[in-house]
Amino acid sequence: MLEVLRRVFGYDSFRPLQKEIIQHLLEGGDALVLMPTGGGKSLCYQIPALMLPGVTIVVSPLISLMKDQVEALRANGIHAAALNSANSEEENVLVRRECQQGTLKLLYISPERLITELPYLIRELRISLFAIDEAHCISQWGHDFRPEYTQLGILREMYPGIPLVALTATADKVTRQDILAQLHLEKARVFISSFDRPNLSLDVRRGLNARDKQRAILDIVARHRDECGIIYCLSRKNAETVASYLSGHSIAVAVYHAGLTTEERDRAQDDFVNDRVQVVCATIAFGMGINKSNVRFVVHYNLPKSIENFYQEIGRAGRDGLQSETVLFYNVQDIIQLSHFAKESGQASVNMERLDRMREYAEADVCRRRILLNYFGEQSANDCGNCDVCQHPPRRFDGTVLVQKALSAVARVRQQATLRVISDILHGNFSAEVKSHGYDRLPTFAVGRDVPLRDWNDYLLQMIQLGYLEIAYDEQNHLRITAQGADVLYGRATARLAVIRREDVVPALTRRHGPRTSPIVFDQPLDSMSGTESRELFERLRQLRAQLAKEQGFPPYIVLSDKVLHLLATMRPTTVEAFGQVSGIGEFKRLKYGPRFVQAINDYLS
Ligand code: ADP
Ligand code: ZN
Repeated sequence: MLEVLRRVFGYDSFRPLQKEIIQHLLEGGDALVLMPTGGGKSLCYQIPALMLPGVTIVVSPLISLMKDQVEALRANGIHAAALNSANSEEENVLVRRECQQGTLKLLYISPERLITELPYLIRELRISLFAIDEAHCISQWGHDFRPEYTQLGILREMYPGIPLVALTATADKVTRQDILAQLHLEKARVFISSFDRPNLSLDVRRGLNARDKQRAILDIVARHRDECGIIYCLSRKNAETVASYLSGHSIAVAVYHAGLTTEERDRAQDDFVNDRVQVVCATIAFGMGINKSNVRFVVHYNLPKSIENFYQEIGRAGRDGLQSETVLFYNVQDIIQLSHFAKESGQASVNMERLDRMREYAEADVCRRRILLNYFGEQSANDCGNCDVCQHPPRRFDGTVLVQKALSAVARVRQQATLRVISDILHGNFSAEVKSHGYDRLPTFAVGRDVPLRDWNDYLLQMIQLGYLEIAYDEQNHLRITAQGADVLYGRATARLAVIRREDVVPALTRRHGPRTSPIVFDQPLDSMSGTESRELFERLRQLRAQLAKEQGFPPYIVLSDKVLHLLATMRPTTVEAFGQVSGIGEFKRLKYGPRFVQAINDYLS
């Protein structure tokens, strides 16, 4: 096992559980594997596929995923192919022939194709292993239910002697039980690895308006020069707006949402995968078919509707294990809109519950990673040090007077105004709505003019979180005073508010030319590493990689990962032999790419 890991994939050691899983499959056992995105699921069936006689059948739900996997395997010199409707009939005939000849090691196939091809496969092929990727697609409880997956239940009976492994990054218990039951995996061993992704930073920014969010995004993008990221938006319109704002600042950006044609969406995805655009502004539909390992930041322009969705989406960052940034924006508008969606969804109570948990996460003032891990059933004893709460523990002050001002404004308008209008009244903003209702003549008008409008928004949001105010969703989202709020208003209780973090809204561009702030963090200590990374060399190697990618028709990250490039720019191997020692370079890539990269490094050094 270790020999294959080293020779073919160029890695020195297994990640947690990989070895146990591979061993178990080689011994003929069935398995259910739960690992987070980027955890290294693929190797769990790829290594057995290489070691066992015959061909491993990998069931995958999307053509783009198959393509990505097949390219990555071929780039390592492994004979793999996909049988699907994107191929021409001639190509499929060729693939079938290779299966018969026994030269193919891995065959990727969609579930519906597998079922129709089974009679032929059973006659012609020696099957070593079945791997069912994205296995949560079999469950109606999961978020990507695919009816075709339910037919896979027959595999266990039809091929009793062939081991079967189901893999997913969806951890929840109901889905897990459903996968085991539907695939008839009564005897399977279940492997659950930690869902922690320590290389992803977690940051929540609350109460920003559209303009501030855009400026903050521009700042994030500018800090990640030459590095790509995804911005998730709730609506098509938001996605379009953010995209045009960024492209107005000369950033190469694509949009991706359900309002585009299939060709437009495919092009956006393709441009992103091949590093032709830096940023994709997308609705949640984007990303499932993407294995791109060098996504360096994920921004949520709006609050997602559940923690599962959120975790899956941020999981698309940093698959290569390098430090990556995630930022979540949320404001009261999101909560109103998402509550509305949840209530109309036909599963109101379940979806409201999910939204509440998401909201609690966004509003928390304890380590955010601990909340996430807890949510997925993992206890963690330590604060992570890599979330906004750990890095800037919230400071509080006596906000009783502020709360009293706000609540009396709410009382003065007979609880008939929204958060925005209440902010206008408090700050003394003559907005159209204020004037039309004559609110500017109220005694509370402008009682809080010393507090910026934006801060009133934030404080009001805090007052909702703290339970002094609530939103009447069924009455035009007007604010109402709760019993607890009344206690503060009438002086029976005091209130503590959190100091607003001003660095949430950094003027964009000021840091544009500043130092790069995301340090490169490696999985393992690099004893062999001499010196530090050369940015210039990295840039040269990146260009070379882009050129090779173009020549070979592979995405750049499949030629060599970002991590390998950083290692090369640090270790600077000057012989093909030394090049092959770098983690992530197997025999095939050493021979194929070694000479050209070594040449580039020698040119740089001289
Ligand atoms: P998943 O399918 O679980 O999302 P992948 O199988 O795509 O994750 O693996 C994520 C990344 O981690 C890939 O770049 C892969 O090459 C790398 N990887 C997997 N196993 C190891 C290992 N033992 N050592 C180093 N890198 C690994
Ligand atoms: Zn933390």
